[in-house]
Amino acid sequence: MHPPKIPILGELEAGRTQQHMIKLPGAALANDEPRPVISITGAKPGPVLFVNAGVHGGEYPAIEAVIRLSKTLDPKKISGTVILMPVLNLPAFRSRTPFVCPIDNVNPNRVFPGDPSGSYSEQMTHALINEFVVHADAYVDLHGGDIPEALVPFVICRAGADEVSKKSKEIAMAFGLPYVLTISKPVQPSKGQSSYAAAAEKGIPAILAEAGGVGQMEEEAVDVLVKGVINVLKHLKMLSEDGRSELGVGKKKTALGAAAITPSSKLLSPGTEPTVLSRFEWLYTKNAGMWYPNVAPGDEVKKGQEIGTVGDLFGDTLEKIVSPVNGVVLFLTINPSVLENGLLMGIGCRSDK
Ligand SMILES: [Zn+2]
Repeated sequence: MHPPKIPILGELEAGRTQQHMIKLPGAALANDEPRPVISITGAKPGPVLFVNAGVHGGEYPAIEAVIRLSKTLDPKKISGTVILMPVLNLPAFRSRTPFVCPIDNVNPNRVFPGDPSGSYSEQMTHALINEFVVHADAYVDLHGGDIPEALVPFVICRAGADEVSKKSKEIAMAFGLPYVLTISKPVQPSKGQSSYAAAAEKGIPAILAEAGGVGQMEEEAVDVLVKGVINVLKHLKMLSEDGRSELGVGKKKTALGAAAITPSSKLLSPGTEPTVLSRFEWLYTKNAGMWYPNVAPGDEVKKGQEIGTVGDLFGDTLEKIVSPVNGVVLFLTINPSVLENGLLMGIGCRSDK
């Protein structure tokens, strides 16, 4: 069916970019400001790709990438329909709150597919899945390091031999980031799942792509996320290989680069395969205090290697942090202040063993 039916957006017109202000259903969301959504309905029929950012409100390069895609994708060149939502978690975006939604203090990316009678975040994720994701043929959720985190760009998808997981991995590989992490179970215990896993369970191939971090508008990170989504459009045959005119359009210079803090965000050169990782090991501190990492995102670490220390406010070491695995540091807490049981980093491992 073209244009596709996505009831919450009303009538979509072929060959047009349309701006929508939508109210998500859910009693807890009744007083929300409307959320901007952009539909780019191709002149020609094809699949529906749904892309959002801002599940975490402080991941700015992801948010900017969605905004830029909305301004640069040309409906005349698209086969199918691209639906873009720059920010899901608007309360966190407005208040610069990392990780959670400030209304219920819940991390929305741990409660997918949500619950229509649950807390604010549960109703919000439920609405996202049911109003958008289930109407799509593929789903891309853009993230990055949150305000206190730096990372090396990577893509996550569900592990498995089933059709949906296989298609998800193909999309993840096509995105073009250096690492692809396939995950078979949640990395943190919680009520629900992450976006990509919940979408896959509904039969929609899905990925979560991460670039940039530390609360900054890193231009390279915006660029790799924009190009990654364009790679996905080409993979899904929604954009022809020569449809390159949109690349680089709308590129802005930002005054404060994060280049000194975060590793460079680069797409793989054509013909290079991403490194596939199959296990995500998260490290926590036992003690609250000052965190002194010895490693940077993208660094390879060995099992038993001392990768940082946590000290008290007298300057004495409380704890040495030792890597429990061989792997690569995918994300790292950069802010020195850490809480008891505070998250320090995530290490991706090549095998499940
Ligand atoms: Zn995130």
